[in-house]
Amino acid sequence: MRLIVQKFGGTSVTTGENRKLVVGKILAALKEGFTPVVVVSAMGRKGDNYATDTLLSLVENMSVAKREIDQLMCCGEMISAVVLAAALQTRGIDAPMLTGGQAGIYTDENYGEAGIVNIDVARLLTLVNNGAVPVVCGFQGVSINGNLTTLGRGGSDTTAAALGAALNAERVEIYTDVDGIMTADPKIVGDARVLDRISYGEVCQLAYQGAKVIHPRAVEIAMHRNVPLVIKSTFSDAPGTVISAFGMYEHDNNCEIIDQVATGITYLRGICQLKIENVDSNSTVDVFNVLAERGISVDLINVYPEKLVFTIGEEHKEAARTELAALGFDVRIMADCAKVSVVGGGMRGVPGVMATIIATLVEHGITILQTVDSHTSISVLLKVGDVENAVQALHDSFNLTK
Ligand code: ADP
Ligand code: MG
Repeated sequence: MRLIVQKFGGTSVTTGENRKLVVGKILAALKEGFTPVVVVSAMGRKGDNYATDTLLSLVENMSVAKREIDQLMCCGEMISAVVLAAALQTRGIDAPMLTGGQAGIYTDENYGEAGIVNIDVARLLTLVNNGAVPVVCGFQGVSINGNLTTLGRGGSDTTAAALGAALNAERVEIYTDVDGIMTADPKIVGDARVLDRISYGEVCQLAYQGAKVIHPRAVEIAMHRNVPLVIKSTFSDAPGTVISAFGMYEHDNNCEIIDQVATGITYLRGICQLKIENVDSNSTVDVFNVLAERGISVDLINVYPEKLVFTIGEEHKEAARTELAALGFDVRIMADCAKVSVVGGGMRGVPGVMATIIATLVEHGITILQTVDSHTSISVLLKVGDVENAVQALHDSFNLTK
């Protein structure tokens, strides 16, 4: 049996017309002799009737426990899975809809960001062995107490990768509204290019630095079990992007993926920068402790003898201000920042990457607020209004269009 997981994202399942294309992708897989297990996201984006954000708006500004929020959010995937199952059943396919729990996905009770603790694929295997095409709700699981849980934003990608790993699938196909992983978000860079193949490590970096086309957790799960991921469009027949370990993908044993100095440019909005003056080593510890206790994660951290500079998510701005003021710190907060990153698995030890980035941004009159680098990425903090210019300019400077 050649098992594959096919995951369809929000835009792919929104309209009847789009769902016809989805059915077409599933039928094509069946025709090629694959045994598909389907995973779906909720329909559409904010404003669409049954989208996750639309469901959430029903209880906006109300006091409701995280558990209830998760029970509500799970409805979006249930609706879309039933509707897709119906479209398949209409075509004569035995397509049972399964909730995450019915598909055997067990999680802890960390509502909103639940972790998978176990996957029991027995029921899925029985179904596929009997020729069925299960349609599984993405983004959700069930706790040992029977409570529905959600896996965090981008959680349907996680469901697909986790099922692919547990089922030992030949590959996991992630269908979305772009032709694959691109050198930058095509919504910003018109001439961004689709990457044919990319390593798990590089795509993980791209995803962590903001390329929302695939969730980094999903990449980690697939990498751990060496399950290839293929990112494809529901709306075209383009071959898509293959994500795998070096040279392991079936068709090309001789072909190695060579990590590039610069593979892609990403951005993350919704960041603010904090500067705290007059600190000593003890108060530095206090600052990071109090933020950690509040569950606020920090990034782009620069510690100087008497000064601290770091960033946090915009959503934590007021909590951080209150907590740090209570400890008597003199905090300056710069809101409306964004992080733009150049990602490339091969940049380690290559001189001049930072120089190119700085020269490019200076040439375009963009103010650099902070920088940080790792072996595989260099990130620059800038004002959110500069994001589009910066991403396009860096894409040009690193010749990513080719
Ligand atoms: P889905 O609902 O199918 O999960 P998402 O909206 O989560 O789709 O992800 C697809 C979107 O990711 C694209 O429409 C694109 O704008 C955006 N995106 C951001 N960075 C990239 C990138 N480097 N390559 C491709 N798409 C990207
Ligand atoms: Mg997505």
